[in-house]
Order: sequence, then structure tokens, then C-alpha cells
Amino acid sequence: MIEQQIKAAIRDIPDFPKPGIIFKDITTILKDPVLCINIVDAFVDQLKGKQIDVVAGVESRGFLFGLTLANRLGVPFVPVRKAGKLPHTVKQKTYDLEYGSAVIEMHVDAFEPGANVLLHDDLLATGGTITAASELINELGGTVCGFTFVVGLGFLGGKEKIAPINGDIIVLAE
Ligand code: AMP
Repeated sequence: MIEQQIKAAIRDIPDFPKPGIIFKDITTILKDPVLCINIVDAFVDQLKGKQIDVVAGVESRGFLFGLTLANRLGVPFVPVRKAGKLPHTVKQKTYDLEYGSAVIEMHVDAFEPGANVLLHDDLLATGGTITAASELINELGGTVCGFTFVVGLGFLGGKEKIAPINGDIIVLAE
């Protein structure tokens, strides 16, 4: 049900940001407040019984539902940001892209050592970004206990890439 609602609301933009990519535009989801609530409800429902101490959201669209989800779970939200955006002391992680590399950062005091961290992003594509975020969380002394995504592009193999990492993988629409 939620899957159909998401699929009906999302907008496919061909050849953005470059030829051959079909960009999944979630701004059309954000315009529907009931659907936004239903998305967070679906996450909360599927996460029932899990010990979650912190929700980490990946810049930038991972902040949108990540913060609301953390609020609903009654736990802190922490951002995983692109390099140079966070003001306090950070730890970095460099990871490979199709062409070149990217750097993500988290504050060194984002969570207590040993915290169970739920990782959230809007979309799972190749899984490269979320794997790097998961490694960064481990290096900061946390344990990734699960992943939540609004959308997954199954044909890119992201689920298979992150499967070896401990934790449930929740993808609402594939
Ligand atoms: P990946 O590291 O390949 O799993 O890419 C995931 C990140 O890139 C997420 O933060 C997404 O927001 C963004 N992304 C990748 N592919 C798309 C796409 N086709 N449409 C929208 N966002 C995408």
C-alpha cells in the first residue's frame, strides 16, 4: 500500500543530472503531508522492537525523513554531511564514485561509543554512499543496526552490497 503511494507520487526525471540517469524526484512526495506521515509510520512500524539509540541521515535528502523518524522514535538525529559543512571536529571517510571520489563527515561526538545507529537515506542506488556512512559510524565506535530508505533502485545492486553489514534493510518502494 505504502509502496503504491510512493510510486504514484514520485516523479521520474530522465537524463538528470546527466544523460542515462533517471532521477527519482521526491519533492513531489514532500508536497503530500499525509504521504509523508504514512512514510514515517511505515518505518516506525517495521522498526518495532529494535534497539535504536540514534538515527543518522545522509546529506541532503536523508535529512528530510531522517529527522522526523528520529523524532518519532524519540532518539537523537545526527547528520552525515559532505566535506566542509560541519562546524565542530569531524571524522572523514573517502569513498569511490563511478568517476573520482567523494568525502563524507560526521562530528566526532555525534553519538556515544557503542550506540546502535540506524542509517537513513532517501534512496538506495549502488549502496556506495551508505556503505561509506556505515564504515564511518563503525570508525566512530557505533554499531549500525539497520537501514531505512524510501526508494530503492533494485537493478543497481545496493541491497546486495550492504547485505553483509549487520542490520535490517527497510526499503519502502522498489
Ligand atoms: P548510491 O551511493 O549509489 O547508493 O547513491 C545514493 C545517493 O545518491 C542517495 O543519497 C541518493 O539521494 C542519490 N541518488 C543516486 N541515484 C539517484 C537517482 N537515480 N535519483 C535520485 N537520487 C539518486
